[in-house]
Amino acid sequence: MRLIALEVNGFKSFADPQKLTFPVGMTAVVGPNGCGKSNISDSLAWVLGEQRATLLRGTEMADVIFAGTGQRRPMGLAEVKLTLEMPDPALPGSTREVVISRRLYRDTGSEYRINGRECRLKDVQDLLMDTGMGTRAYSFIQQGQIDLILSTKPKDRRSLLEEAAGITRYKVRRTDAERRLEETRANLLRLDDILFELN
Ligand code: ATP
Repeated sequence: MRLIALEVNGFKSFADPQKLTFPVGMTAVVGPNGCGKSNISDSLAWVLGEQRATLLRGTEMADVIFAGTGQRRPMGLAEVKLTLEMPDPALPGSTREVVISRRLYRDTGSEYRINGRECRLKDVQDLLMDTGMGTRAYSFIQQGQIDLILSTKPKDRRSLLEEAAGITRYKVRRTDAERRLEETRANLLRLDDILFELN
């Protein structure tokens, strides 16, 4: 899994469309205070589906849309596109490029796309599961969080290790299957009741 490029338009301080590329070996972004470094990591978390405005340093989701300056009017739309290199499940050992995008208008919810095709947030989450790139994974470690990881409960630490080991996907599927089995059991019980009433 590797970041290839990030395109931002109308996201926080990025009023004009900008494209950042991440060549192999790039490990840091530097710049003066307030130039937008954290806005870049916010845009990465956002395009991957972050739902918590506070973790994006705002109070509501619309705060990510360019709010205007003395010289420039606010914008009505924020859009971020992320190009990733991911393992190709169809061809083990090889990789493919995947483009994930998210768009938000001031008065509507978010729209997600994978390779240009509209999709649900869940599709983005499923795609990223076990890659270490999800918003709940360990790819975003904010200031002060390292202490938290070291001192957090063993159960929370275990979930980080499970994500790294690639078993989260199977745990989520198991929980999903157990829920459906439970629903089916309840339906069967109801069916028995109806059959009993009819006989
Ligand atoms: P530091 O090094 O101090 O942490 P930084 O480079 O990480 O700074 P950011 O926090 O990414 O800087 O950017 C802060 C700038 O982004 C501020 O000037 C702020 O006004 C601007 N900004 C944040 N949200 C918006 C928005 N919705 N619209 C316009 N500008 C915004």
